[in-house]
Amino acid sequence: MTADKPDMEALRRGGKILREGGLVAFPTETVYGLGGNALDPEASRKIYRAKGRPSDNPLIVHIADRKDLDEIAAFVPEKAQILAEKFWPGPLTMIFPKTGRVPLETTGGLDSVAVRFPSDRIAQLLIREGGGFIAAPSANTSGRPSPTRSEHVEEDLGDAVDMIIDGGPVGIGLESTIVDFTETIPVVLRPGYISLEMLRETLGEVRMDRGLLITDSSVRPKAPGMKYRHYAPKADLLIVEGEPEDVISAINGYAQKAQAEGETVGIIATDETFGKYPYGVVRSIGSRAHEETIARHLYDVLREFDKYQVKAIYSEAFYTPRIGQAIMNRLLKAAGHRIIQVTEH
Ligand code: AMP
Ligand code: MG
Repeated sequence: MTADKPDMEALRRGGKILREGGLVAFPTETVYGLGGNALDPEASRKIYRAKGRPSDNPLIVHIADRKDLDEIAAFVPEKAQILAEKFWPGPLTMIFPKTGRVPLETTGGLDSVAVRFPSDRIAQLLIREGGGFIAAPSANTSGRPSPTRSEHVEEDLGDAVDMIIDGGPVGIGLESTIVDFTETIPVVLRPGYISLEMLRETLGEVRMDRGLLITDSSVRPKAPGMKYRHYAPKADLLIVEGEPEDVISAINGYAQKAQAEGETVGIIATDETFGKYPYGVVRSIGSRAHEETIARHLYDVLREFDKYQVKAIYSEAFYTPRIGQAIMNRLLKAAGHRIIQVTEH
C-alpha cells in the first residue's frame, strides 16, 4: 500500500493483531519497525525474542497523537515541548522519565522511556488502530543492517512476525535522532536526519553523548543500543579516507590485487565516482550532490553485498554537510571502526 492509498482493511487487521499482543512490522519514514503493544510486557518480550535483541537494549514507544505523550512521560521539559512543536511528527525520538503505565520490559529495565511520533501516514494509522502506544525497534535481526524495504523484514523476520505491512521503500533510511531529556542539558544519544546543528539552532545548548565521540571502550554510550556492533554486512567492511583521487587509486589497488589472486572485493562508490572503479563488484550508494540519497541507500547497499562472495568491502567515506554525521556513525559501526587513511605518496 502507499501513504496516499492506505489499505484500511489491512491496517485494521494489523491493529487487531497488536491489541491482542501480536507483532506487526510496518514502514516509518526512518526504517521499518517491528511493532508490539508497548504497554504489554509479554508483547515486548516477543519483540526481543524475534530480533534476538539483548534485553537491556530499550525499545522506542511510537505514538500518533501528541497528547498521548503525557500518558507515558512523567515530566516533559519546556525544551522538549519546543522540539515536539518543531519536529513532530518526524524522525526525532526524545527520552523522558517514564510513568507507571510503561512496563520495565519495554524500557530494558530503565525508569526512562524513549518516545517518537512518526510522520509516515501508514505508521500513524496503524499505531492508532493498535491502541496508540506501539514499541517498535528496527525490524531487523539484531546486528544486521536496518530494514529500509519490506523485503528486508521478510529476509530477517519472515517467520517471527504475525504480519508485515508493505509500504514500499522508506524515505530517510537512517534511524531517528535520539535526544535525552532526563538531564538538565539535552544530550544527543544517536545522530540522525535531524542534525546537532538543527537542534542547537532551536534550543541553544545541546550536547553530544561522549560515548559517541570516543570510539574506544573507555566511555560507554548512554543509549544501551549504541554499544553493540551493528548494521554489519557479512564480509569485512573497511572505510577508505583521504583526498578523493587518492581514495579511488587506493581502492583500485586493493581490487586489482584481489583480482590477481582470483578473488573479488566489493566497492561502495557514489554516482560521481562509480565509473572510476574498473575492478570488483561496484555499487553506487547515491549522489554526493544529494546527500539524502546516500542515507536512503546505505542499508540496502550493505545488505546487497551479502549476496556476493566478496573477500572484503571497501567504502568511500561520506562526511556530507548536513547528515554526514549520522551516515558516518552507522557506516563506522558497520565497519567496526576500521578505517584506512590514504595520503599521496
Ligand atoms: P532501535 O529500536 O533499533 O531504533 O534502537 C533504539 C535505540 O534507542 C537504542 O540504541 C536504545 O538503546 C535507545 N533507547 C531507547 N530507550 C532508551 C532510554 N530510555 N534511554 C537511553 N536510550 C534508549
Ligand atoms: Mg535497531
